[in-house]
Amino acid sequence: MLFDFHVHTRISPCSDLDLKDILKHARSRGLDGVCITDHDTMDIRNFCQEGIQRDGLCIIFGMEYSTAEGDFLIFGPFEGVPRGLSAKEILTEADKSGGVAIAAHPCRKARPTMEYVIKEGYCRIVEGINGRNQRHENQMAMSLYQNYSVSFLGGSDSHTLEELGSISTLIYGAIRTRSDLINAVKQGNFALDTRNHMNSLQPESSL
Ligand SMILES: [Zn+2]
Ligand SMILES: [Zn+2]
Repeated sequence: MLFDFHVHTRISPCSDLDLKDILKHARSRGLDGVCITDHDTMDIRNFCQEGIQRDGLCIIFGMEYSTAEGDFLIFGPFEGVPRGLSAKEILTEADKSGGVAIAAHPCRKARPTMEYVIKEGYCRIVEGINGRNQRHENQMAMSLYQNYSVSFLGGSDSHTLEELGSISTLIYGAIRTRSDLINAVKQGNFALDTRNHMNSLQPESSL
């Protein structure tokens, strides 16, 4: 199943993307699933049913959790998680509660992931391609494997309808629930879908 792992709705103050537009357009963008990852909130649960929608689209609720040491896409029982935890605290919490965490745009100049988080193994899954990154930031992220044992997935980081599905990740197996998604990610049953994303990795000089 093709998933966009990183999508912001209007619940995020910085986003212009309506939930109804996600529901309306995701399938025609080739997506089988969308993870809603608003900044520091899972309030999306008040507006939408998680899981398979009428047209077969799978909606999963997560969150982009902000810390001073980087931002993390987290999936798990985090509806009540307090804001303002450190990276170590939220990553430990994700682990303890059976959830999963992904370092969002780890090499973005603004809001990068502190290297120790990856070096010391607190987070082993990173966003290799982020739709809002500069190309060199994606290239740096995709190079992390040279020094660290990490795996890659990707997301659009959509804040507008135009961006929805610009980057996606292939998940092997059927995903119907948040637990399905967490298990698939934990077991490494995914691959960054690079078919349409070569542009995001080419050197900027080739523009
Ligand atoms: Zn934002
Ligand atoms: Zn984001």
